[in-house]
Amino acid sequence: MSLPALRAGVCDVLGRRLHDLRISVIDMCNLRCTYCMPAGAYHERFAFLKEEERLTLEEIARLTRLFATLGVSKARITGGEPLLRKDLPRLIAMLREIDGVGDLALTTNGVLLAQHAEALKEAGLERVTVSLDTLDERVFDAMSGRSGRYSAVLEGIAAAEAVGLAPIKINAVVERGINDHTVMDLVERFRGTGHVVRFIEFMDVGNCNHWGREQVVASREILEMIQERYPLRALEENYHGEVASRYEFCDGAGEIGFISSVTEPFCGSCTRARLSTDGRLLTCLFAGSGIDLRGPMRDGATDDDLLGLIAGVWGNRTDRYSELRATLAPSDGSKRKIEMYQIGG
Ligand code: SAM
Ligand code: SF4
Ligand code: SF4
Repeated sequence: MSLPALRAGVCDVLGRRLHDLRISVIDMCNLRCTYCMPAGAYHERFAFLKEEERLTLEEIARLTRLFATLGVSKARITGGEPLLRKDLPRLIAMLREIDGVGDLALTTNGVLLAQHAEALKEAGLERVTVSLDTLDERVFDAMSGRSGRYSAVLEGIAAAEAVGLAPIKINAVVERGINDHTVMDLVERFRGTGHVVRFIEFMDVGNCNHWGREQVVASREILEMIQERYPLRALEENYHGEVASRYEFCDGAGEIGFISSVTEPFCGSCTRARLSTDGRLLTCLFAGSGIDLRGPMRDGATDDDLLGLIAGVWGNRTDRYSELRATLAPSDGSKRKIEMYQIGG
């Protein structure tokens, strides 16, 4: 395909346009969520990337600009825990300058958000998503693999609200027998605040979270539980490819969302590319190793070389793991997958 044609946007084999980019800015984290980085596997001696192995902020900005040329208009900064990355506001300011990136967001566990909310806002960030699985501190400690961080997350949410990083999305992964009994607390707490709680089905990402289908609480089950107390009405999607199905409280107390990639896969409208901390391009959350962009970039690849490389990868994309999950042979299930903290969800 010619470069002018590439600039008009690229579609994959299944006709899905490249539209979103998730950027993991660091592979380290200050929590050890059992479903993402279980403490046993990510212990003190675990070898995270060295600084020189991570993309620099300039390299991230360059690649984001190229992705924007190919049609990306939404970028999300994630991790690991993105607020551990030094100079994050400088990256945000650089990304803000890129033509075409109309929507720039950040997903964080919130522990350091109170410290950074103002600088993030000043740098041009508009919104944050904060992960908070429960309002029961004991359950929070168990799920996050660390104690003593719960109140910092709540302070982070309050600080984000105070500086206007709103509306805030609150992401809650629900696991059967672990935090499903606390779902209604989150609903009650954030109803009427303008913030949007989104319940996420526990996924079989990575290789070490001991996922089992029986631990997944289907969104439908949570929806029915909420409906018993607060009638809900389904909303249209905001844009094609939105991952959450949205509902509003019939009494006007705001919105709620569900991300149901296990029970209601949405591969058909999946328009997201992922950039790992060390500069690999992945076209699916459940992919293996990805295509290295850092090497060519550091070896002097031109923008046009990189555009061709990215467009080629996207153009050949056939991923639809979640739609196929139920039919995968056990041997497929044992193939190594990228870890969630390396690409950020
Ligand atoms: N550390 C940040 C945080 O937790 O918000 C950003 C990175 S984290 C990998 C991004 C999102 O992935 C979080 O909302 C987290 O709850 C979600 N996540 C991680 N592992 C998951 C799993 N096994 N199933 C479903 N969601 C998961
Ligand atoms: Fe860290 Fe986020 Fe993974 Fe939890 S979900 S371990 S906060 S990267
Ligand atoms: Fe997209 Fe892969 Fe998730 Fe399907 S399984 S929605 S292709 S990331």
